[in-house]
Amino acid sequence: MSVSPYWNPKTETMPREDLRRLQGHRLRKLVERAYNTSAFHKRMFDEAGVKPEDINSYDDIVRLPFTTRDAWMDNQADNAPFGEMLAVPSDNAIRYHTTSGTTGRTPLRVLDTRTDWKWIGELWCYAFHGFGVRPDDVVFFAFSYGTFIGFWGAHYGTEKMGCLVLPSGNMNTPGRVELIHEMNATVVCATPTYALRLGQEAENMGIDLPGGAVKRLILSGEPAGSIPASKRLVEEQWGAKAADTAGMTEIGTIMMFECEKQPGGTHIIEDHFIEEVINPETGEPVDYGEQGERVVTSFGRTAIPLIRYRSRDLVMKVPHDNCSCGRTFDIYDGGIRGRVDDMLLIRGTNVYPRAIEAIVREYPAVDEFQIYLWTKDGIRDEISVRCEVREGHEDQWEAVARKLQTDLSHANEGLGIKIERAEANSLPRFELKAKRVKDDRHVKGASHV
Ligand SMILES: [Zn+2]
Repeated sequence: MSVSPYWNPKTETMPREDLRRLQGHRLRKLVERAYNTSAFHKRMFDEAGVKPEDINSYDDIVRLPFTTRDAWMDNQADNAPFGEMLAVPSDNAIRYHTTSGTTGRTPLRVLDTRTDWKWIGELWCYAFHGFGVRPDDVVFFAFSYGTFIGFWGAHYGTEKMGCLVLPSGNMNTPGRVELIHEMNATVVCATPTYALRLGQEAENMGIDLPGGAVKRLILSGEPAGSIPASKRLVEEQWGAKAADTAGMTEIGTIMMFECEKQPGGTHIIEDHFIEEVINPETGEPVDYGEQGERVVTSFGRTAIPLIRYRSRDLVMKVPHDNCSCGRTFDIYDGGIRGRVDDMLLIRGTNVYPRAIEAIVREYPAVDEFQIYLWTKDGIRDEISVRCEVREGHEDQWEAVARKLQTDLSHANEGLGIKIERAEANSLPRFELKAKRVKDDRHVKGASHV
């Protein structure tokens, strides 16, 4: 008997109207539980004048207030260490994690119970199985097993599926390459940036990855997993197929994954989440095919009910039938397209780092890069892209720099973007969540020309 391509055939191919009914039912239960067990949610609903009995179907979700990261953080600061979001006594938890803390504030602290960890792993199975990973695979995890929740769930998911799991928490990059090679790993999990770094290291070590056993890469942690040029680069380096996934510490696991048909986007796991897309300024819903902010409601985590959470991620939803795999789960075209807060305002032009990466990665001659912003003459915003040239491509540099400058300018309303050459290995390298923007401006967004 052939194996189903779906991890959960019943829900993954459920007719949309049944899926909506299931979501409505789970929403009602979630709201009831949150109202009765979490002081944070009870206060929020009372202030908005909503009672659990007002929520009877999927469409009632718009009656509920949004949850923001700021409100959650403020509450956690006022009620340290865990805040009033918790819907179970902290005694019931078995593990502590935090967000990666990129905003300069104390990171969010999260707790999960034993039931939650089963759920977290289960959701990763949708992604691994959906991309063709099977029990006989040998799965390598390139991450440090720290307080960042990231691939922990993926580790448990693949164990649950019966794969052989290779952890590498204490290893450096060459050690990891060696283990992948020696153990004939067939699947590698990493951030897109780190997958590229592993690939480069293998090249330096004279290890032929495309000739090796790795057939699939599961990427997460950065938007680049869905940027076509970045993904192509990873796939060429490894001689393997790469699939994007995305999650967040606030929900504990992933909410979307790329299937084997790879329709240019990721399926939303709609039996476990309601994902809305709104205009970030007005809070109004946007249609299919329009970019907006994703807002997540999560049914599965018992310790932390999450309702209409403003993710700040930019996405564009398209209907499920844009993919031929048969799933009825809708799709985020292009995965996570960036962050609402990532937008850089430079001399009146909106610049998105992800859009810059999409262009820079079209140039194989560029190795690592950095987007550098500074203030000229005390008033004028300047932007340059600093590039390290890949070994063996040095003689192409001048032509590459010229063409890259033209391409970047065209993609950004004619904005003048300087291209600078950086010394080899002078730019920072990343294992998790690459930070490629360095902003040294005195005043951010000064629009003087
Ligand atoms: Zn599909």
